[in-house]
Amino acid sequence: MHLKNKKAIVTGATKGIGKAIAQAFVKHGADIAVFATNQDRLNRIQKELEDIKVDPNQKIITKKVDVSKYAEVEKVSNEVLNEFGHVDILVNNAGITKDALLMKMSEEDFDRVIDINLKSIYNTCKVLIRPMIKNSKSKIINISSIVGLIGNFGQTNYAASKAGMIGFTKSLAKEVASKNINVNAVAPGFIETEMTEKIPEKIKEQILKNIPLKRFGKPQDIANMVLFLAGDDSDFITGQVFAVDGGMVM
Ligand code: NAD
Repeated sequence: MHLKNKKAIVTGATKGIGKAIAQAFVKHGADIAVFATNQDRLNRIQKELEDIKVDPNQKIITKKVDVSKYAEVEKVSNEVLNEFGHVDILVNNAGITKDALLMKMSEEDFDRVIDINLKSIYNTCKVLIRPMIKNSKSKIINISSIVGLIGNFGQTNYAASKAGMIGFTKSLAKEVASKNINVNAVAPGFIETEMTEKIPEKIKEQILKNIPLKRFGKPQDIANMVLFLAGDDSDFITGQVFAVDGGMVM
């Protein structure tokens, strides 16, 4: 019960890494609000999380919201604050890819990736930072990517958004450290989710050759790190980027 009585928001938690984070939080006793765009998936995750509750009083909330839209984020965040009373943990996990070589990348695809991956964390943090300051302590965890550290072929938009998240994380960590808010980033390597399913087998084989631990990651590998950063054991850690990547970047 690592997170007993904690109130958390996890964005993009209807599948993949976000879902594993939400499941881990619920298993460790947190009340949780899931933000995502697909209503059917939200209904499904609501039921799945209800089924693994460890305390009958644990609250599970799901909200349909496009995290790239400030007004929508403000509305649903205020609804969650009303229902929970406060929010202790914010995990900014929602993200997309729209890969293409820069020469072929449309302005629309560049903007959409920046809006969903990077502008979204401005939206959630801007809305929630004042309420979180009122807590005795709070945790913000941003899911970046190793691509934000080393770049990647065909991902100028994605790499820029994920590197931007790291700069944002470090700057906000400095701004709110005196208020006892820890802000950290996790940089996953190659994790088996729908996002990476579309990568051609030949490319996957090449990627595997560059992973010293010789396997792709599971969403649970990322959830384990996020669980640590969300709990009291990480109280002296802020402004850091943790690669969870089987040793790809070292
Ligand atoms: P996924 O595609 O399986 O899930 C993405 C989630 O984000 C979904 O729940 C989706 O509904 C949500 N989402 C997308 N656009 C949204 C929007 N506008 N508003 C609200 N929610 C939205 O992806 P995943 O692989 O689980 O990735 C989760 C995070 O981890 C992303 O930020 C991704 O960039 C990052 N990441 C993934 C990998 C990987 O190998 N899978 C590697 C590094 C970083």
